[in-house]
Amino acid sequence: MKISDIYRDKKIVFSCEVFPPKPGAKKDGILETIKDLKSISPDFISVTYGAGGETKDGTIEMAIKIKNTYGMVPLMHLTCVDTKKEHIDIILDKISQKGIENILALRGDTPTGRNFKSTASDFSYACDLAAHIKSLTDKFCLGVAGYPEGHPEAYSLERDIKNLAKKIQSGASFIITQMFFKNDFFYTYLDKIREIGINVPVSAGIMPVFKAKLLSKMIKLSRATVPSELISIIEKYRDNDEEMEKAGAEFAVKQIEDLIKHGVDGIHLFTMNRASLAKKISSFSNLR
Ligand code: FAD
Repeated sequence: MKISDIYRDKKIVFSCEVFPPKPGAKKDGILETIKDLKSISPDFISVTYGAGGETKDGTIEMAIKIKNTYGMVPLMHLTCVDTKKEHIDIILDKISQKGIENILALRGDTPTGRNFKSTASDFSYACDLAAHIKSLTDKFCLGVAGYPEGHPEAYSLERDIKNLAKKIQSGASFIITQMFFKNDFFYTYLDKIREIGINVPVSAGIMPVFKAKLLSKMIKLSRATVPSELISIIEKYRDNDEEMEKAGAEFAVKQIEDLIKHGVDGIHLFTMNRASLAKKISSFSNLR
């Protein structure tokens, strides 16, 4: 099933993100997570690609399992940084044969940021990847990433939003945002993108905080602003994982409830492979 059809049919699309196991690591854990997530009936499950050095073959394998073993809709992330067209075409061929219909077209993180010029890549930006896929076939439904606080390399939020428009013009039909902890960033972003004519559905990326150390790492990568309420939670429960997870889930639920009140198209939960946390959040927030 194409994700664009899910957005058309549902009032709020609920999705979860998982990452594949590292090369050589056992797959039992992630398979158990996916099985567990099925109990909260997400509309689709996305699988990260190459982020943090994970195996890329693992992404394809997990996406196929989500579809064929667990009967859910997968969204396969695909990055194009340092990648040749031929390599992308081989992947597209492989996943198409296995019935994968949805791709999150991404550039991926470059080693040196803004001034990085790859010599090995046929693609400079995610819009190039999206355009390439669409030039080959209309079989795939494409999503792209959006950044409510602006992409860290962008000169301005306005410039970043103009670049988001290029991704939509290249054939993407939905957006999943980077994590944010203050909903106002999301609402302002939505106003700005609608103003310039981007009308595709936008799912809000929600990261439940469950470990102080992990949050610091994620914030460094995403540069998301952390509100004082969340800083207090982190400081209070820094050494108490159980309480931190509880308070982090409550914070995420509050964010989700407010987003639902504001008529959000979708909620995308960065589960960090913690199905129990995703289950807790989905039941408390009446997402399911
Ligand atoms: P782009 O859209 O190409 O944008 C990158 C930068 O270039 C931005 O600053 C943008 O403003 C600018 N830009 C874009 N197009 C143009 C243009 N035509 N001309 C000039 N400037 C332009 N990373 C992974 O490695 N694996 C994953 O699985 C993964 N999953 C993600 C899931 C979500 C929901 C999100 C939000 C991010 C994910 N990322 C993942 C991280 C992502 O790869 C990085 O944020 C990366 O730095 C940018 O990717 P992008 O697709 O947004 O790039």
